[in-house]
Amino acid sequence: MNRLQRLHVERSGLGAIAAKVLAGERLDREDGLLLYRHPDLLAVGALANHVRETLHGDLAYYIVNQHINHTNVCVAGCKFCAFYRTAKQPDAYVLSPRDVERRMLEQIHEPIREIHMVGGVNPDLPFDYYLEVIRTMKRVRPEVHVKAFTMVEIAAMAENFGMSVEEVLRGLKEAGLGSIPGGGAEILTDHAHQVLFKGKIDHRAWMEIAKTAHRLGLKSNATMMYGHVETLEERVEHMLLLREAQDETQGFMAFIPLAFHPENTRLSHLPKPSAADELRNLAVGRLMLDNFPHVKAYWIMMTPRVAQAGLHFGADDLDGTVVTEEIYHRAGSTSPQRISRRQLVVLIEEAGRVPVERDTLYNPVGPQPDRAAPERPAQSTRPIPGASGPEAGMGISP
Ligand code: SF4
Repeated sequence: MNRLQRLHVERSGLGAIAAKVLAGERLDREDGLLLYRHPDLLAVGALANHVRETLHGDLAYYIVNQHINHTNVCVAGCKFCAFYRTAKQPDAYVLSPRDVERRMLEQIHEPIREIHMVGGVNPDLPFDYYLEVIRTMKRVRPEVHVKAFTMVEIAAMAENFGMSVEEVLRGLKEAGLGSIPGGGAEILTDHAHQVLFKGKIDHRAWMEIAKTAHRLGLKSNATMMYGHVETLEERVEHMLLLREAQDETQGFMAFIPLAFHPENTRLSHLPKPSAADELRNLAVGRLMLDNFPHVKAYWIMMTPRVAQAGLHFGADDLDGTVVTEEIYHRAGSTSPQRISRRQLVVLIEEAGRVPVERDTLYNPVGPQPDRAAPERPAQSTRPIPGASGPEAGMGISP
């Protein structure tokens, strides 16, 4: 942060938080609420940008990946979801392993490094189905990283197949699962759970599954879906719970705030997310989650333009090329369903950042930019564990 920016932040009334950030001190609940309520978004953004640049310099990450949503059949019935169908609805679907193979072969000319797969809680699918889908992916592209299944889907597998969560994860890992996307967290409070998604696991179970995965060597991301019934206090609580778990396992790679898209849901009366709110959530996330290596501006949700701006509000990652995203488009997302590697690079460069193609675990791949990330100064944020772990996924459950 240069002198002028620091002056701006201090004059805005955020001097006490700025002092903590510059000293590498951890922010508390009250700080989080003040950052959410403070009228000067640019001052909040400048603080987050300071942390982001301390950790990553000008570097901004992206990945060449493919999304596959294997089924939209779901029994959880979350009020915010525009994606799910009951098994009897005419547009319900399940992709067979052969269908998955076909989708991958359609993109075989692309240098895809990651398959991101999530779907509904479909009780009609046997455990072998999941194993076979993963094995198929690894057969079609042995080098690809499979990042699949929300904590919600994993919980349902354990329940439906009479297995422990650990047995489920071990089985999936043996078949080739590389990491877990991090969706299904929504807002980690009892209030949001009761009002919006009581048909699926609560935050305690979500966190236990995440921690179990981390202990087994499966990294994950963590999403936060906001902009529905939750309060600002609940958003901060969500971040504090993630931070506490990360202190324990160091298994989360990226925090991914996802604005709720109300179209075609039972909450369609709610307003659409604003760019200002999206940028603020990136910034507050970057500032509160001092032990998360990465914050992702997920372009498919926030549009490429807002995600691009997010690279100056705490985000260091834009996610990937995607290909055929279905979940958010059913809820009215106006982003395209795919973006080329070239477009991602241009978005990053136009923002004044240096693009770095990564794999799921944030290892740089391909030719490297001249400018490297800075040495992390002692006064920066707290130590960032797992700076090369696995990557993220989709916000809401699927
Ligand atoms: S968000 Fe996920 S778990 Fe909830 S209804 Fe939609 S597909 Fe099912």
